[in-house]
Amino acid sequence: MAGAVWIVAEQHDGALARISTETATLARQLGEAAGTAVVGIVVGSAPDTAGAELARFVPRVLTVEVPHAADAAEAALVASAVAELASAEPPTIILVGATPDGRDVAGMLSVILGWGVLANATQLTWDDGPLVEMSIFGGRLFTTSRFTGAHGIVTVRLGASTAEPAASVGEVLAQPGSAARLPIVSRLERVSEESAAVSIEEASVIVAGGRGVGSPEGFRIVESLAEALDGAVGASRAAVDAGWIPYSRQIGQTGKIVKPALYVALGISGAIQHKVGMQTAQTIVAINRDPDAPIAAFADLFVVGDLFEVVPALVAELRSRSA
Ligand code: FAD
Repeated sequence: MAGAVWIVAEQHDGALARISTETATLARQLGEAAGTAVVGIVVGSAPDTAGAELARFVPRVLTVEVPHAADAAEAALVASAVAELASAEPPTIILVGATPDGRDVAGMLSVILGWGVLANATQLTWDDGPLVEMSIFGGRLFTTSRFTGAHGIVTVRLGASTAEPAASVGEVLAQPGSAARLPIVSRLERVSEESAAVSIEEASVIVAGGRGVGSPEGFRIVESLAEALDGAVGASRAAVDAGWIPYSRQIGQTGKIVKPALYVALGISGAIQHKVGMQTAQTIVAINRDPDAPIAAFADLFVVGDLFEVVPALVAELRSRSA
């Protein structure tokens, strides 16, 4: 029988990150297909809250309390603790989120355990072992790979799965912490990019502006619709490169990957590099004055019109409905 499927959780301020709810769902589905155990692992200075959240998705969670985690760059601590557990009872596969922290953990685990890494998975299935689909060349090509060895590590992209809690809540077991096996890097400072704004990765509604918005002032119209829909503001690279909005709002191949329930694109053409960052949105609405803009091919609703006319009318209608 195959060894277990593990998912290493990521935390944001002590809570389970959204990427981990999705990756845990994928791990559970993979474990069911393989007929093998699924284990979630949370390492941190106070892992209990995230551990309890993770137990909603997988049948078994191991929490490891590591006292330094609050002021240290966590990846080395997380990787050391996970490697310790994996050395005792090696799983077939370890899943982590394809996030900056997840990538660090995957790389360090690979070094400690000597296992290979498949990066940026968009899908995972089981056929006598894990089969990993990955998106390469900015989403132009998809490859399917498997490990040649008995064990491997996979980083999983946001949007590869939809988070779905299990039918029953799993058990949570506290494990003793151990000394880090890699040098610990101290974090001197942690600065949030924008304190007030809603994070685009967590938002369920995103209104994004592109070159068609025309100027930094033009983004007020994007903000007005985002506000009316209680959503976050995103952008294409063209708008970011023009200096109209910070890079933290960029969506796409070299920006963030998002998966909101509703994505409204204003003055965005829908280039492949933008599409790979938002194509898994549940509903895509685009407003563009060019009827042949590429985004028309994958938007659920495509409105041909000038955004400076359509959006104010839309905002007025939304406000009158909520009044
Ligand atoms: P344009 O392509 O110029 O489109 C503007 C659109 O606005 C047009 O369709 C136009 O019809 C419409 N428009 C203009 N005025 C109005 C109006 N008044 N009302 C309504 N519609 C209007 N791009 C990203 O977005 N994210 C990335 O992460 C990213 N990474 C990249 C990585 C690489 C390696 C490369 C080579 C490119 C990358 N790009 C990325 C750039 C990408 O190829 C496109 O250039 C970019 O997405 C275009 O942005 P845009 O749609 O805002 O601008």
